[in-house]
Formats: sequence, C-alpha cells, structure tokens
Amino acid sequence: MNALMQTYARSDLAFERGEGAYLFTADGRRFLDFASGIAVTALGHSHPHLVQALTTQAQKLWHTSNLYRVPGQERLAERLVAASCADQVFFTNSGVEALECGLKLIRKFHDDFGDPGRYRVIGFEGAFHGRTLSTLAAAGNEKYLKGYAPVVEGFDHCAFGNLNEVRAMIGPETAAILIEPVQGEGGMRAADIAFMQGLRQVCDEFGLLLMCDEVQSGIGRTGKFFAHEWAGIAPDIIATAKGIGGGFPLGACLASSRVAAAYGPGAHGTTFGGNPLAMAVGNAVLDVVLAEGFLAGVNQVAAHLDRRLDEMLQRFPGAFVEKRGMGLMRGLKCGGGIVNTDMVERLRGAGLLTVGAGDNVLRLLPPLIITPAEIDSAIDMLAAVAAQAKAA
Ligand SMILES: *Cc1c(COP(=O)(O)O)cnc(C)c1O
Repeated sequence: MNALMQTYARSDLAFERGEGAYLFTADGRRFLDFASGIAVTALGHSHPHLVQALTTQAQKLWHTSNLYRVPGQERLAERLVAASCADQVFFTNSGVEALECGLKLIRKFHDDFGDPGRYRVIGFEGAFHGRTLSTLAAAGNEKYLKGYAPVVEGFDHCAFGNLNEVRAMIGPETAAILIEPVQGEGGMRAADIAFMQGLRQVCDEFGLLLMCDEVQSGIGRTGKFFAHEWAGIAPDIIATAKGIGGGFPLGACLASSRVAAAYGPGAHGTTFGGNPLAMAVGNAVLDVVLAEGFLAGVNQVAAHLDRRLDEMLQRFPGAFVEKRGMGLMRGLKCGGGIVNTDMVERLRGAGLLTVGAGDNVLRLLPPLIITPAEIDSAIDMLAAVAAQAKAA
C-alpha cells in the first residue's frame, strides 16, 4: 500500500533537478517543460536570482508570525500595488487561500459599508477557483462538487461571456461577480474584452464588487502583469498565486483601499502567509518580471508561439481543431477522436511536458523565459506526436 492518499493520477516520473525550461530525471532523461508545474515556475527552474534570494534569506530568518512587521511583506505589497490598480495586499500560501480571502472580503465589505443582505456571488460555467468547500461552490463544477454536499450557500452561475444572463441573475442579495479573465482548468478560454468591460459596468451600476481570479493568468502570464489589464478595467479584488512565487508557495489577495477598509485587525489571518522566505522569493520574481522590457519580451515570444500554433492547426486539422488562450497561457483543443490526456502522455514520451484542461484542451504553459528556439523544439515534438496520433 502507498502511504500517500491517492488523490492524484500521477504519471510514473520523478525529476531530480531543473534548469531553465528543462527538467531532468535521476537517470538523465531530459524534458522540455511546457507545463511549469501548472503555470507556477514562471521563471523556469533554478533561476539564479531566485535561488540567491531564497538561500540568502534562509540563512537569516525563516519565520516570525504576523504578530510582528515583516519588512519583505511591506516591500512586496508596495511593489504589487505600484504595478496594479490595487491599493492593499494580504499574503497567503496558495491560490485558494487568496480566493478565500477575497470571498470573505466581499461579504465583510457589504456587511460593514452598506447592505448586509448582499452576500451572493455570481461565477461562471467552466470556472476553477480551487478545492476548498467555498471555492468549489464558487466554481460550481459538478465533477468536483460530487460527494461534498451540502454545497456552500451563496453562489450563482452564468454562461461565460453572456452579459445578458449576468444582468438577469442580479438580485437584491447579489454582492459580487467573480471571473477568471482567462479560464485555465476549464479549457483556456479568454473572456472577450467587451465582456470584461461589461462586467465592470454592471458592477458599477448595481453596486457590486468585481473580483478577478488571476491565480493562473497573473504575473505576466498573458503578457500584461494581470490579464484584466487587456480590457483596461480595474477590478475591486484580485486573487493571484502560482507564478508570483516562481515555485515557492505564495499567493496574494489585492484590493482597492475602499474595499480593503473592511478588513481591520482580527478580521482575517494566516500563520504562514507572508513568511519571510516566500517574500524574499516573491520580491526576486518581481525584480525580473517588472524589469524594463521583460513583459515586452514575453509578448514577442508569445507572438512567435501564436504563429507556430496557427501552423499546427493548418498542418494537423484532424488532431487540433482550435487554439485557445493568450500570451503564454495557451491551449489546443484536440479533435478527431484524440483525447487530450492521451496527447499529454504521448508528448511526455517524446520529451515534452504539457497539461490537460477541460473541454479536451491540451494546455501549453511554458515559463516566461522561454526562447523562440525552445518553442520551435516543442512544436517539433507536437508535430511528431500529432502525425503519429493521426496515423493511429
Ligand atoms: C490553480 C488555481 C487556483 C487554486 O490555486 P491553489 O494554489 O491550487 O490553491 C485557483 N484559481 C485558479 C484560476 C487556478 O488556476
């Protein structure tokens, strides 16, 4: 019997070390990493600046608790605020905790500043917000909710992209709208810019808060620091994680000061969130991502990937039927009877790591430091596997 709870369908592969966009097994096999631990290792593996930041902090101080000031938190918060529309930050260890922080803040805001009767949150079909009871309810995915009844109360769901449905669903108890600007797990679907702008308008019109789940799409993944920036809108609350720690557990909930004012001492808390080690790495990630020209570079390399994906659609119309997503958060919808998870397995056999997503989509999430040559190498492996899959 395995001593681990069997919650994952793991592949029989273990890595020993990583370098840039590559992972290596103990027996020396090399894999090109187009999964990045599911959009986590944003700067690739063993980035020297991140390694330096973590090891330097490790020799000084690991943990003090949030009973004291944590200078690394103050610095990282100031930088996140300067780089976004938000004014204040709460640090967590994970994406789901950042979501939970935001969902609680939605209720607290309406309770403190206006209408305690407002507590319901409108979410979208195909969403993924994490695995706690409340975030499962927020996403409303039957597959993940099954067996965990009763469902946490207070969440409604609309079709992704349908503003009329959103308007029709708003009632006197509606408090907020929660959306991933680019759905990740659900199939790499990017919301239309007009839809995002429409949601902002509807929120303003009805006194609702707009919360963006940028756990996967944030920190440069789509070519902007946050994906909602493509729509030129300012959400009231942003949850982010994954890329911000470059592989170290770290998440953050950002909010406008108007909304964050509902969180006073004792209103929310965490033991590990904002730990000095995580702050050292988070600040090091921002040193790189916010450096002059870095996001422009991401957009350039993303345009190269986009062209090469178009080529794949033309060459293998039977295997790939549609490209999805934006920036370096991309997907190919599989067709012709090909199942995305089979494709992931075949690609792994060829030396390319990818991830599946909903709607039979193959997810491509290279590190933001990926080069055009590495993209070409990934495309060669995709082409070889797509040709085989067609023949099979
Ligand atoms: C991964 C993810 C989460 C959950 O993050 P965890 O760190 O696994 O808790 C929430 N929302 C989105 C959009 C995600 O991609």
